[in-house]
Amino acid sequence: MASTTCPVCGGVGRNVDTATLKALLAVSLRQLRAMPYAFCATATCDVAYFTQDGAQTFDKAQVRVPIYQKEADDTTPICYCFGHTVADVRREGAAVVADIEAGIQADQCACNWRNPQGTCCLGNVKQLAKRRG
Ligand SMILES: [Zn+2]
Repeated sequence: MASTTCPVCGGVGRNVDTATLKALLAVSLRQLRAMPYAFCATATCDVAYFTQDGAQTFDKAQVRVPIYQKEADDTTPICYCFGHTVADVRREGAAVVADIEAGIQADQCACNWRNPQGTCCLGNVKQLAKRRG
């Protein structure tokens, strides 16, 4: 698969299912084009999603939820399925990881519809928990 770079920041994007955009965009879905989209995870870049040809972008203001990778705020969600914020992970660390793992086990997560990155948050959560005080 060809690597896909964000037309604004040049960062490597991660391919996302169009279902993720359909669930999370705040704009009319009539704008969606019939081609693959990728997610830009660069913290300082306003682009959330872009088409693989780079011709169309949706920025973070057009997404219905704050994007963990792009907002430094403590109240920003990090786990979009079970409602854990950055502050929760800083405070409770391992307990949050355990709750998410239990949810995954019970097949209760819906990462591709709820998380802007379109995949499970667990990697982000574990990384942040490790950095904790
Ligand atoms: Zn970007």
